[in-house]
Amino acid sequence: MTESDTQTFLFEKNPNPVPASEREALLQNPGFGRVFTDHMVTIRYSEERGWHDAKVGPRKGFDLDPATVVFHYAQEIFEGMKAYRLPDGGATLFRPDANARRFRNSALRLAMTPLPEELFVESVRALTRVERDWIPAADGAALYLRPFMFATEVLLGVKPSAEYVYCVIASSVGSYFKGGSPAVTLWVSENYTRAAPGGTGEAKCGGNYAASLAAQAEAIEQGCEQVVFLDAVERRYIEELGGMNVFFVFNDGSLQTPPLTGTILPGITRDSLITLARDLGLTVREEPYAIDQWQADAQSGRLTEAFACGTAAVVTPIGKVKGRKYGFTIGDGGAGPVASRLKAALLDIQNGRAADRHGWLDRLF
Ligand SMILES: *Cc1c(COP(=O)(O)O)cnc(C)c1O
Repeated sequence: MTESDTQTFLFEKNPNPVPASEREALLQNPGFGRVFTDHMVTIRYSEERGWHDAKVGPRKGFDLDPATVVFHYAQEIFEGMKAYRLPDGGATLFRPDANARRFRNSALRLAMTPLPEELFVESVRALTRVERDWIPAADGAALYLRPFMFATEVLLGVKPSAEYVYCVIASSVGSYFKGGSPAVTLWVSENYTRAAPGGTGEAKCGGNYAASLAAQAEAIEQGCEQVVFLDAVERRYIEELGGMNVFFVFNDGSLQTPPLTGTILPGITRDSLITLARDLGLTVREEPYAIDQWQADAQSGRLTEAFACGTAAVVTPIGKVKGRKYGFTIGDGGAGPVASRLKAALLDIQNGRAADRHGWLDRLF
């Protein structure tokens, strides 16, 4: 272990935190991603000093030169995870080691210096402990943690930055979609793809989101909530939504999800649901599924449910699918029993109501 793996965090208390009464009011109905806590983590990297200046300090803006690399060449990656309230008032993270590993893989793909995985986990633990009063207790609510890292060298030449800032901010959140998780309508993107083989599809980088926004805007124009992307080569196989993985449920009780072949983000929710479904005795296939087959199976009744999944929205039923050449309803257009059962199984573990048989929880206090 190098020196930078073992450093501890300096704590600088925010001199002007949000008053307790105001915080309590905000936690009543936090929405998603608009209520921020008082502190943030920062750690700096330079070639001379390695990772240094690890700190939990007041949440504030960055002062960056206009020629900072991230503004021009988008060397930026992020993670998304949650701290959950437990019935006894304690709190836990969920598989933070998996986020740490994915963050490392994303860094390598974007030619950024990876943050040591243990330092990543310590950083989210440290911030969550400091912000313990910001973790909402309501069902489905949590403290959303957003670790991210960006290139800070000041240079217009094209090369990997020699300097980075790693940061973690936190946001108290309710459920992602207003009104819990009603079924969503998807727009099949035929004009745009999200990721091509050899590209950055399996890295969690801001650039992938920038590339998905025009398709998302098209979906909204068409009266749909989310986009479903097809593969970039054959334009046939379902990949994922802009920020969620997807599962299909069949009338023989089996499940299917697209395989991780490099163009899909390897979701930790996806991985956890595969495990939980198998625990329930269900068969899960990781195999490609074509859009025409999806329509045919929905119409014949062979397909009974489909749902999207991710940390932010947990499990979201897919009710309808629309596209220039497509239009079909799944089941009765609402939440199906398999999606509901898997969602409950996952939330029960995350909120400490069910046994943690896979060692997924990282209890903080
Ligand atoms: C983050 C993300 C997901 C979901 O990953 P989780 O680890 O389950 O939150 C799925 N797709 C994309 C594109 C993502 O960025």
